[in-house]
Amino acid sequence: MIEPAEHRYLIALGSNRRVPGIGGPRAVLDAAIEAFKQEGWRVDGVSPWMASAPLGPSMRRYANGAAVIAGDAGPEDTLENLQSIEAEFGRERRGQRWGSRTLDLDIVLWGGGSWASKALSIPHPLFRGRHFVLRPAAQVAPTWRDPVTGLTLRQLAGRHGKL
Ligand code: ADP
Ligand code: MG
Repeated sequence: MIEPAEHRYLIALGSNRRVPGIGGPRAVLDAAIEAFKQEGWRVDGVSPWMASAPLGPSMRRYANGAAVIAGDAGPEDTLENLQSIEAEFGRERRGQRWGSRTLDLDIVLWGGGSWASKALSIPHPLFRGRHFVLRPAAQVAPTWRDPVTGLTLRQLAGRHGKL
């Protein structure tokens, strides 16, 4: 019997907006985890949510976290699926890169290693410098190795010096 390929992803989640009917940023992240399950993902782990300072011109605080999900979608289909979940939560793209956002879902790592296309870079190019990604990522998948540096998430988070 041929088993379908299983892909694992480490997803970074962020929100800094209330959503009517859902609640504040932490409730939005909780709801995003439920949305993964409804979309057919197996959720293998979820970090604690952390609060982080706003980036750029947006004044609201973020809730950030990380989750490990598994399913049969390859990287490009997964990006599309994450973007449709973002859209379900009412994320508006108003052209302001660091503006308020209901929900941001980024692919940080993929079990298959690296991926580079016009729309998608895995590992996420900026994750090694972002405490609000590294800290929850190291909590949910401490031994997962970044294929570029060969370091585990725990090592990367430790190197970043704020864990
Ligand atoms: P941000 O950089 O703040 O997450 P967006 O969520 O608007 O900004 O993403 C902008 C674009 O980044 C997406 O349209 C997507 O094509 C691209 N992208 C490239 N690599 C990744 C990745 N690893 N995860 C998510 N999006 C990515
Ligand atoms: Mg994004």
